[in-house]
Amino acid sequence: MPSDEATAGAVIVGAGLAARWVILTLRAEGYEGPITVIGDEAHPPYDRPPLSKAVLKKQAELAQLTLLSPAQLDQHRVDWRGGEAVVAIDRERRQVRTSAGGLIDYRWLFLACGGRARGLPGVAAHPRIVTLRSLEDALHLRAHLDAARRVIVIGGGWIGLEVAATARQAGCDVVVLEAAARACVRTVPEAISTWLEGLHAEHGTRLRLGARVESVAADDSAVAVTLADGEVVSGDVLVLGIGMVANDDLARAAGLACDNGVLVDASGRTDDPAVFAVGDVANAIQADGQRRRIESWENAQRMGAAAARAALDKAWEPSSEGPPWFWSDQYEDNLQLLGTPEPGQTLVERTVAAKRQRIFYFCDGDRVRAVAAVNGGREIKVARKWIIQDRYPALDRLADTSVDANKLPVQPRTGEQ
Ligand code: FAD
Ligand code: NAP
Repeated sequence: MPSDEATAGAVIVGAGLAARWVILTLRAEGYEGPITVIGDEAHPPYDRPPLSKAVLKKQAELAQLTLLSPAQLDQHRVDWRGGEAVVAIDRERRQVRTSAGGLIDYRWLFLACGGRARGLPGVAAHPRIVTLRSLEDALHLRAHLDAARRVIVIGGGWIGLEVAATARQAGCDVVVLEAAARACVRTVPEAISTWLEGLHAEHGTRLRLGARVESVAADDSAVAVTLADGEVVSGDVLVLGIGMVANDDLARAAGLACDNGVLVDASGRTDDPAVFAVGDVANAIQADGQRRRIESWENAQRMGAAAARAALDKAWEPSSEGPPWFWSDQYEDNLQLLGTPEPGQTLVERTVAAKRQRIFYFCDGDRVRAVAAVNGGREIKVARKWIIQDRYPALDRLADTSVDANKLPVQPRTGEQ
């Protein structure tokens, strides 16, 4: 029990997007008690997606990224402790200890501490070898891009491909070295990998698949990556985009169940009813009953809101929000993915070449289960409605571009008139 139960409130570890949604939802649902946010970055909560896009292109600075300004934190009566880390959790006393030596009691603890960029084993830190997770990382890479002519990226995932696109648009020669046989293999089906690979080829970015990195050497003037087949790729800067590691160490040390993130139920609750984990750090039970850690902007938002409601015992219906969604912007194109495509689903494609638009529907029987859309934000919205209502157009009409997706008549479900 907390030493002072009457004054203990909501304590949030980490000041990112998930934290923002815990704060906003607690207040929107009428919680009037104390909220303390401890964030180890000095900045107030800011948004990460622009880091690999607008920030690198010098089209956005901290002010455009800020999710809750100090004035808004004040307005929501948040005790925000920037530049401080939580270093230990005492679950028995319901207390956290901070790097500044403070002890803070909690009634509910929300772990919203995200993840960190994975490093390449055996590669020593060097100013020419960079990762991208924080604003400081983005500003450091941006300074490199000002001077660089040749950029090497290890990892053909989202960070790798977005940075490659931005660097290429800045006029750099770009080589992406991906270990797997296709791009973004962990998160998208083959049809989307093929589209991504074609996009980068079209823009003159070299994407080497099946690349096995043997060694990396960096000095004051250059960096060189040697591959297992003997090829040496040289550049001015090396970007590592080889995934993130969940910041679950704190939870692990406090005896909470962790396995690639903090294990939580669908509402973000751990096996300790007073402790929640939300966003990138949480390995949660999803709507399909499977456990997955989802690393996306929308997931951080949904989970932050869901956990705040669960703490307050407010009803919440996850299926009303539809399946998970994320987007990526590369060059001038926008890709969005709704739902989780599974092997064995029927693929129906809808293409409008004049709009550079390609929509991939992944279907089981007469149902659309997931959609990937290139330059098709509107089609994603329409499909979300179909999935939430569980009513779909005839699948043989999906490819018919003479009719707007929104105007396709949906079919009654079996048993309906
Ligand atoms: P985070 O944003 O990681 O915030 C966690 C915070 O907790 C951090 O500030 C961290 O420093 C802090 N912290 C950690 N440990 C402690 C501690 N012990 N004490 C105090 N503070 C601590 N998603 C998309 O859907 N589309 C995109 O286009 C997209 N682009 C992205 C681009 C980049 C460069 C990156 C890095 C991510 C991108 N994402 C994108 C993913 C999305 O930004 C993340 O899923 C989201 O930021 C997760 O939010 P979070 O609050 O869970 O974690
Ligand atoms: P990621 O999407 O997991 O991609 C990492 C890629 O690097 C994978 O394809 C991985 O292949 C490959 N890889 C790993 N080790 C390698 C090695 N030694 N050599 C060559 N390739 C290697 O992670 P990320 O791109 O680094 O992104 C980090 C985080 O930021 C994630 O949470 C991501 O979701 C988020 N982010 C999201 C977006 C977006 O949604 N638009 C944009 C930017 C960042 P294997 O899978 O085979 O290991």
